Amino acid sequence: MSENIKKIAVLTSGGDSPGMNAAIRAVVRTCAYHNIECIGVYRGYEGLIDGDFESLDARSVKGIINKGGTFLKSARSKTFRTKEGRQKAYENLLNENVNGLVVIGGDGSFTGALVFNNEFGFPVMGIPGTIDNDIVGTSHTLGFDTALNTVVDAIDKIRDTASSHNRLFFVEVMGRDVGHIALNAGIAGGAEEILIPEEDLGLERLVDSLNKSKTTGKTSSIVIVAEGDKIGKNIFELKDYVDENMEGYDVRVSVLGHMQRGGAPSCFDRVLASRMGVKAVESILDGETNYMVGLINGKMELTPLDQAIKGKTKINLELLRVSDIMST
Ligand code: ATP
Repeated sequence: MSENIKKIAVLTSGGDSPGMNAAIRAVVRTCAYHNIECIGVYRGYEGLIDGDFESLDARSVKGIINKGGTFLKSARSKTFRTKEGRQKAYENLLNENVNGLVVIGGDGSFTGALVFNNEFGFPVMGIPGTIDNDIVGTSHTLGFDTALNTVVDAIDKIRDTASSHNRLFFVEVMGRDVGHIALNAGIAGGAEEILIPEEDLGLERLVDSLNKSKTTGKTSSIVIVAEGDKIGKNIFELKDYVDENMEGYDVRVSVLGHMQRGGAPSCFDRVLASRMGVKAVESILDGETNYMVGLINGKMELTPLDQAIKGKTKINLELLRVSDIMST
């Protein structure tokens, strides 16, 4: 392990996700385990530029593994997109004698880390923290599993009211341009249809399918709509179309929104966060830089940051087929 690394900084950036606190804890405790110092940076890159730092030891991160959000706060920083901003951030890190930076965030945060490394040669390591699961180089991003559980819980509750009133519910879930949350939670919640950006069913086919479900005896239905789906301009337009073209259902919309980003991280996300934190710090100590840690075939692996931000995660075709069969 490198003798040159004596102090590592950790920050959370971009949209928050459940498990970020657990990942900070893992970074801090791995540093303590290897007898190196750790500092937390508040408000992501914004705090890096402002020098908003706090020394963290193993005890500073007690009682947070089960807490959603991020106690370091997260932010989006326009100033970090400028050369001057990044120069200031670099000087602040040098003044603090920091030798490595762990960035917990999404692809935008990793792009910032890469630009920073290219300019100053500063060692950076990424931990993928986003509920969307849209980052190449890990089967699961941090927070994805918790968000799935939150969505499934919501679908179960919506199902109760939908079946009491013979209603058709359109439920919009997060996921940006990908349908991972919609597809997985839709299958787990027993949705009749799942609309994702990766597959364009078309409005007519949707109505046909819902009508078919009715003729087979269904009295209520739930359609999960990924926020990035393009079938209608938005979910309310979708509702209007189905209202006009289908009889016998009271059609309602539920947009789950930011509740999907909150809550106590699941067991899976706590373990994942712990593994990622250990791998991130130990990789920096091994002299690695410009990588993201991720879960591949059950193992912690490194993926170059430029690959992680360039790629687009693919939807699991087998899951698509399962969902089709289940909605029979
Ligand atoms: P989420 O997946 O939730 O959107 P994210 O990490 O992708 O999270 P972004 O808002 O895209 O979130 O990026 C976070 C921050 O990373 C930006 O506010 C900015 O400070 C920095 N960043 C992004 N792209 C660049 C870039 N090209 N150059 C410098 N900094 C960047």
